[in-house]
Amino acid sequence: MTQVLPHDLAAGLGTRAVHAGQVPEPLSGAVMTPIYQTSTYIQEGIGKHKGYEYARTENPTRQALERNVASLEGATHGFAYGSGLAALDVLLKVLKSGDHVVCGENLYGGSHRLMERIYTRFGLQFTFVDSRDIRNIEAALRPETRMIYCETPTNPMMQLTDLAAVGDLTQAHGYLFAVDNTFATPVFQRPLEVGADVVLHSTTKYLNGHSDMVGGILVTRRDDLAEQFGFIQNAAGAVPGPMDCFLALRGTKTLPLRMRQHDANGRAVAQWLAARKDVERVYYPGLTSHPQHELARRQMSGFGGMISFDVGDATRARRIAERTRIFVLAESLGGVESLMGHPASMTHASVPPAMRAAMGLTDSLLRLSCGIEDLDDLLADLDQALGA
Ligand SMILES: *Cc1c(COP(=O)(O)O)cnc(C)c1O
Repeated sequence: MTQVLPHDLAAGLGTRAVHAGQVPEPLSGAVMTPIYQTSTYIQEGIGKHKGYEYARTENPTRQALERNVASLEGATHGFAYGSGLAALDVLLKVLKSGDHVVCGENLYGGSHRLMERIYTRFGLQFTFVDSRDIRNIEAALRPETRMIYCETPTNPMMQLTDLAAVGDLTQAHGYLFAVDNTFATPVFQRPLEVGADVVLHSTTKYLNGHSDMVGGILVTRRDDLAEQFGFIQNAAGAVPGPMDCFLALRGTKTLPLRMRQHDANGRAVAQWLAARKDVERVYYPGLTSHPQHELARRQMSGFGGMISFDVGDATRARRIAERTRIFVLAESLGGVESLMGHPASMTHASVPPAMRAAMGLTDSLLRLSCGIEDLDDLLADLDQALGA
């Protein structure tokens, strides 16, 4: 089990991002945590070792990442996995056949697929509701309900769930409350401080931030959950390799710095898009026109770089997506480079058209992940693509 050291929780977020979870390497004093590329560790005698026996169970590079992210989220335990979905897989393995989960309906497609196509086969039950209104969550509760699982803001419609309200509900009734904090990151949103029990990340996105690895993590303050996450990490074995942990750890060092730039670019690009007559709608929690802007201001300290916008015409949307030069047409998000996506044909192609239409996910919707480039260059790129 990877536990956060007391000194990791005391400093400010920027300091913790750089230092938490890391100690100089004992052999040489190397400041950077090495990539401990080993499967096993020498034992001085039978049962006599330094706390490391086999790398599925313990790896120092992985532990440094786990402690670092746990500290950033204000958690006391972290467990890293081979992908964000592997982290969700572990979270669901805490449940048992017959248990029921209430989820936001606008989840990451892969999360929905894991729940509906795999875990229902093992007897878990899921209800997907519009979690913008807590009454929909309350109405879905059953005697077998064990967990409430939310993503906020959602992808790509940027819908929000009131974390404090759900936190109050789950704490009053003893439900497990898990939040996928991939979009907002601990820099802008702190679910554990308003009643969540678990935070999940796809470290592939903002935490790593450089689009060069795939990984996931679960963090918690609850010792009972930590024990299970660690047990399943070892027993089921979906661990990340030390190289990927090293890359993610290098990423988290600059997370607060990068998020400031993602946020600044996101706000400016959203405002620029909202002012254009040839853009029908802009979905960004930082805009005063966002229907949940007040909630966004209450529970987020920044709005980040994710924006969706509707250009009203599917052919035009495709043309724009293929004409940008700086915004790269690609899946994923959260890297230093700006990306553009067409949700209806890319990330959300597996969602039935009727369901897409019901949530406003039209064929003319485009999604941006604003990187950290110069704003003027991003606007010029969008301007030439939209004007074409
Ligand atoms: C990408 C993503 C995931 C899945 O993470 P992987 O690392 O791709 O497995 C889960 N949730 C959100 C919000 C994501 O963006």
